[in-house]
Amino acid sequence: MLNIVLFGPPGAGKGTQSQNLIEQYGLVHLSTGDILRGEIKEGTDLGMEAKKLMDKGELVPDSVVIGMISHKIEQNKHGKGFIFDGFPRTQAQAKALDVLLELKGTEITCMLALEVDDNELKTRLLERGKSSGRPDDQNEEIISNRIAVYQRDTAPVKEYYADQSKYRAVNGLGEIDEITARLAEAIELATQN
Ligand code: AMP
Repeated sequence: MLNIVLFGPPGAGKGTQSQNLIEQYGLVHLSTGDILRGEIKEGTDLGMEAKKLMDKGELVPDSVVIGMISHKIEQNKHGKGFIFDGFPRTQAQAKALDVLLELKGTEITCMLALEVDDNELKTRLLERGKSSGRPDDQNEEIISNRIAVYQRDTAPVKEYYADQSKYRAVNGLGEIDEITARLAEAIELATQN
């Protein structure tokens, strides 16, 4: 299986790039943010609890997202592999993901980290907020909090994968297709070894 963690701060382009990569490699796209927004739309208890945190730009508890991902891995275990988008966001999530994949006899191939500076992220998120309808993309204070939560809780996940020699930084600035080509090149390198 080809299992990719597509990593980066909010607004780095993970969703857009995931779409291109799933087409190219035939992978299943697992975005915990999308799954949570689906729960909110359906009005489930889980969705309503998660919404309170998401609207503030805080993370939902590890146990909630790990449970969701576990379920999706089980459902798609015979596929070519996964792109994890917006997950793992903490070291505890990264460890749990390793255990879940090991149970299926597979592992993470590489973590591709899209790098974009904070000013560009804020501009992109505010722009996206005009069309996405996402409440967490429309308020500068919430955006700043999401970036701060990323720096505090999520950025250290890079070290988790660096320790396994699976971390690869990718420049997230430029044309969409140009960035996809950089990601494909990084995947090529990771699968050669
Ligand atoms: P995203 O669509 O990835 O930007 O996620 C939107 C929001 O959903 C985040 O700001 C968090 O509140 C929540 N969320 C998504 N994925 C996770 C995760 N892996 N761990 C905790 N919270 C998450």
